Amino acid sequence: MIDPSVIQKIKDVATIREVVEDYVPLQKRGVNYVGKCPFHDDNHPSFYVSPARNYCKCFVCQEGGDPIRFLMKHENIGFIDAIHLLAKKYGIEIEEKQLSDEERKAMQENENLRNMANWLAQHCSENLSADSDEADKAKMYLMQQLRLRQDTINQFGIGLALKGASYSAAALSKGYKSEQLQRIGISRVDESGNWEDLYAGSIIIPFHTVSGSVVAFAAMNIESEEVKYTPDSSIFNSWNSLFGLYHAKRDILSNKKCLLTESPLDILGAWQVGIKNIVASCGKELSDQHINILKRTIPAKSSAEDRHITLIYENTQEGIKKAQNTGRNLVRSGISVHIVELPKNESLASYTKGKNAEEVQNYLTEHEKDFINYYTERLNKVIALKPQFKEKALEEVGKLLTSIPDLIVRDAYIKSCASQLKISQDSLTKFIN
Ligand SMILES: [Zn+2]
Repeated sequence: MIDPSVIQKIKDVATIREVVEDYVPLQKRGVNYVGKCPFHDDNHPSFYVSPARNYCKCFVCQEGGDPIRFLMKHENIGFIDAIHLLAKKYGIEIEEKQLSDEERKAMQENENLRNMANWLAQHCSENLSADSDEADKAKMYLMQQLRLRQDTINQFGIGLALKGASYSAAALSKGYKSEQLQRIGISRVDESGNWEDLYAGSIIIPFHTVSGSVVAFAAMNIESEEVKYTPDSSIFNSWNSLFGLYHAKRDILSNKKCLLTESPLDILGAWQVGIKNIVASCGKELSDQHINILKRTIPAKSSAEDRHITLIYENTQEGIKKAQNTGRNLVRSGISVHIVELPKNESLASYTKGKNAEEVQNYLTEHEKDFINYYTERLNKVIALKPQFKEKALEEVGKLLTSIPDLIVRDAYIKSCASQLKISQDSLTKFIN
């Protein structure tokens, strides 16, 4: 339980303007501030923020309240979680009462691990900006091979793990414990008892939580270009974390749509051309938890069934297969799914390399397709080539259509898919039943 006096302290310091502005750009109007309402599809700024009353309210959908209520509604979290978010924002320590010694110890340990992960990110970032041959080589690689700009490198806190047992030694000398290094999966002890950096000589990309704390890393070996991720730990669960969400949150809100891609490199490439409402599942299949996070984060345009996600996966056999699996999962969750097919064999990272924002934006706009129509179209091509697969293909389409939770939406797709497949709605419905 949180000490009531601490809750009061948080209520006293949290100002509505600062809290709302983390999510909604505001403009001054008289003594108040206005912005577009994050709770409904708002074309005019209908959302009023009154610093004097420490209160916000939408004059169209009536949503609003004090800073705590705003966070609860906006982040879809409970009271206690909102208090924790505010405590963090304002640097207020929350004293948890009635925790068992064990719980307290576990919390403290996790806090130490987070501190170490944040320290490590900072350490690697300093390695990269240092004046050394290793740093020069890494910078050349980032800027010339990957064509990343300095502002992108800074934005994501990209760093360098030096060769040898460098960061392990630095962490230990900083007072972090050896088992902590092991617990977040960045170091190990070799047979002769020496510490070994598991990601030595790699570019290090920090993985942030939604509130901006570093909890894991993606590491790219400069020589092999292979990207690895640090393992799950007591502070990081890859099944409920999306890379880039911390940076993308605001833009997902303002664009009312989220792009979904595969790797941190895709995200960096997208950022370079001004596409910021984008997250990656980092080599994982999208889990139900991932989908719930996306549903919470993307504002619905009108109804709950109207959350917009666009998949941009690598255009290889493997990438398309992954995109199709992901698309099917999202359709089943009632999300409006779209897909952009990149040019053959390109990933978003490779495609954006050296291109300007307009060129990429135009491509994405021109090539964005409704996922269900795209899926049907692909099967249609298979049928044209191999008519013996027709039955199987119709079953596939039927399965996808059956999974659409909204019956009105489902009916509309039955109509459009039947016409795409040049069969009657009745014969398609047979496959659905
Ligand atoms: Zn509203």
